[in-house]
Amino acid sequence: MLVEHEGTWVGWSGAAGPAPVPFRSDGISLHPVALSEDDLERYYEGMSNATLWPLYHDAVEPPYFSRRWAQSYREVNERFAEAAAKVAAPDATVWVQDYQLQLVPAMLRDRRPDLKIGFFLHIPFPPIELFMQLPQRAEIVRGLLGADLIGFQQKMGAQNFVRLAHHVLGCAYSGNVIEYEGRQIKAAAYPISIDTKEIEDLSNEPEIRARAEEIRAELGNPKTIILGVDRLDYTKGIERRLKAYRELLSEERLSVPETVMVQVATPSRERVGHYQTLRVRVEREVGRINGEFGRVGVSAVHYLHQSYSRRELAALYRAADVMIVTPLRDGMNLVAKEYVASRADTGGALVLSEFAGAANELRQALLCNPHDLDALKDAIIRATNMDPEEGRRRMAAMQRQIRKHDVAYWSHSFLDDLKSVGQPSDD
Ligand code: UDP
Repeated sequence: MLVEHEGTWVGWSGAAGPAPVPFRSDGISLHPVALSEDDLERYYEGMSNATLWPLYHDAVEPPYFSRRWAQSYREVNERFAEAAAKVAAPDATVWVQDYQLQLVPAMLRDRRPDLKIGFFLHIPFPPIELFMQLPQRAEIVRGLLGADLIGFQQKMGAQNFVRLAHHVLGCAYSGNVIEYEGRQIKAAAYPISIDTKEIEDLSNEPEIRARAEEIRAELGNPKTIILGVDRLDYTKGIERRLKAYRELLSEERLSVPETVMVQVATPSRERVGHYQTLRVRVEREVGRINGEFGRVGVSAVHYLHQSYSRRELAALYRAADVMIVTPLRDGMNLVAKEYVASRADTGGALVLSEFAGAANELRQALLCNPHDLDALKDAIIRATNMDPEEGRRRMAAMQRQIRKHDVAYWSHSFLDDLKSVGQPSDD
């Protein structure tokens, strides 16, 4: 997308300390912005990942509020706005991404009123009742309203925001268009997606298919492989899933070694307290399941606290009979879409939480409420015993959806809409 539009990327390099000098790579200009160790602690781990992340995900863990973190968030957002203001060409389009940069649209508009500004939120936008807890609520709403177009994963998020702008700042609105300081700002849903074709092609490579066979053999050629792939995050419902699996084993509705579970739990945000306690809880549950149901040489759960390459993931997806995606709240969940794209053989079954954005599109998955343990267990059993013909029909229908609605469709629809909004209002 950046290559297509001869764009410039302004972002963090991923390492604390001074920013590398701007450089070009793969036809893209990259302008790194510096973050210090203090910024990482307060802006990134603090305000972004211990305040906003839990608050926007239904407060499934309590958000912490800190004035020092909020101050750092302000400063870092200024830095990004400053950098974007410097590099953007006259009348350029700037697309600001995600919850770490919600103040940037207004800061950028102050500096560069000539720009067309879009903002996309990759995570859910919470209901008013939750958002109102945020001490910086008005500041964040004003920050976002600096954009011409604000994109959300789901309609619900866009509706929450429109109501909130009215509630907090008294903005008039009509449908999904908000009036603010003589401008019109549109809030709408643009569900993000994957490069479906690329993943289909990858999973069809002979090497990946052979690796999938090898994985099955390494797991002892079980009848059913159940797979989970998530960042180790409390929003992903990993504990619910493990508990459901343990109860199914204990009730002998599933048994080892006919069934094995593989749980990839990629290390994430390891310096944030919520994540440290989650890891302890998940690993205790894995130990309990293996202790009760494993045997010498046979694990009931293969728990992998590691990061996997796209190729290895493609092979795992292809090897898995049942994919379980059980977030308690998730903006989209790309893993669910990747699994579907990887099953060019139309094999496999997907158990998917209703609280993932992906559930709006993957209607033929076995949808369930992960808080309802009995429903989750029933969905796992249904997936395990799925009639192959029904499974193929469901998978093919989901594939049709993500072939059309791929990541290129997402970015084009957002950028096309951005072109046509933000005209000055008549009054
Ligand atoms: N992923 C990966 N290696 C891993 C685990 C996950 O590359 O070991 C990728 C996965 O393929 C997907 C992304 O990380 O593209 C996770 O996106 P998702 O929307 O499912 O969840 P998020 O982590 O963004 O909350």
